[in-house]
Amino acid sequence: MPRSRPAPIQLVIVGSVGLDTVETPAVRRAEALGGSASYACAAASFFTRTGMVGVVGSDFGKGYLDIYRGFGFDLAGLQVREGRTFRWSGVYEENMDNRRTLATELNVFAEFMPELPENYRQAPFLFLANIAPALQLRVLDQMRKPRFVVADTMDLWINTALADLKKVIRRVDLLTLNESEARHLTGERMLIKAARKLLGWGPRHILIKKGEHGAVLFSKRGTFLMPAYPLEEVKDPTGAGDTFAGGFIGQLAAGGKVTEEALRLAMLVGSVIASFNVEAFSLDRLRKLTRREFNARVAEFKNMLRI
Ligand code: AMP
Repeated sequence: MPRSRPAPIQLVIVGSVGLDTVETPAVRRAEALGGSASYACAAASFFTRTGMVGVVGSDFGKGYLDIYRGFGFDLAGLQVREGRTFRWSGVYEENMDNRRTLATELNVFAEFMPELPENYRQAPFLFLANIAPALQLRVLDQMRKPRFVVADTMDLWINTALADLKKVIRRVDLLTLNESEARHLTGERMLIKAARKLLGWGPRHILIKKGEHGAVLFSKRGTFLMPAYPLEEVKDPTGAGDTFAGGFIGQLAAGGKVTEEALRLAMLVGSVIASFNVEAFSLDRLRKLTRREFNARVAEFKNMLRI
């Protein structure tokens, strides 16, 4: 029997792949699998065929790769280099809202040269998850003609790589960032003004994340609000933004169209997948997540939003 060829890659995601040490008021978890690309690929792979672009060091255990394989995303764009894997550590304050970064070690990411496998380059959807803007640009340059490009960023790059970050912003369809980053980047206190300014820099859409208060999508044509799914307990908020964005673009890629309606549904899917992610550390909750649990929460959430 002829072997069937795997479905084409619909979504490429580049970002950090690393080991996180996270402290919450209740628990400290050391060297857990994390990184913006890990979270985003895990979330997106529920919806569409996704390829990961990133780098790990020679210390990256096989157990972590097995976790990736369990999600089923493609690993041809993940390089293994001599040296240490990216590491990040952070601590959450009592309310779990504010996070302080304790340390960031770029390690193998400092020398990383992304080289996209041939079958990634024609993908219609691209997510430039949080990583140095120069790397985001190198990936963007290798893509043929993506239909929809989303980029994420963080304070560190606003402070240290603003010129490259502005080049990224000019070339993407949607920029996502959290509210304090939007204020910092634009110098505007009011989010509407910050979003309007960012829309003037190029993207057709600005998605501002507001943590437990949800997310807002600003477009030239209007504004759309999506609350966060209300949870009784949050174990670890790490990766909420990445899983939101991964679910969001994964859902868009699955539908194949970027209409106003599709964007709104993708916001809902992003909120739901992020809500599962924060119920446990690292990728622990998404590893166990079933389609039935996901569908049930989508239905429940839609009901909460109905007028
Ligand atoms: P989030 O909670 O969505 O903001 O994402 C947290 C993830 O971002 C963690 O898994 C970290 O490994 C990753 N991260 C933290 N700092 C950086 C950085 N400077 N570059 C890339 N990824 C980072």
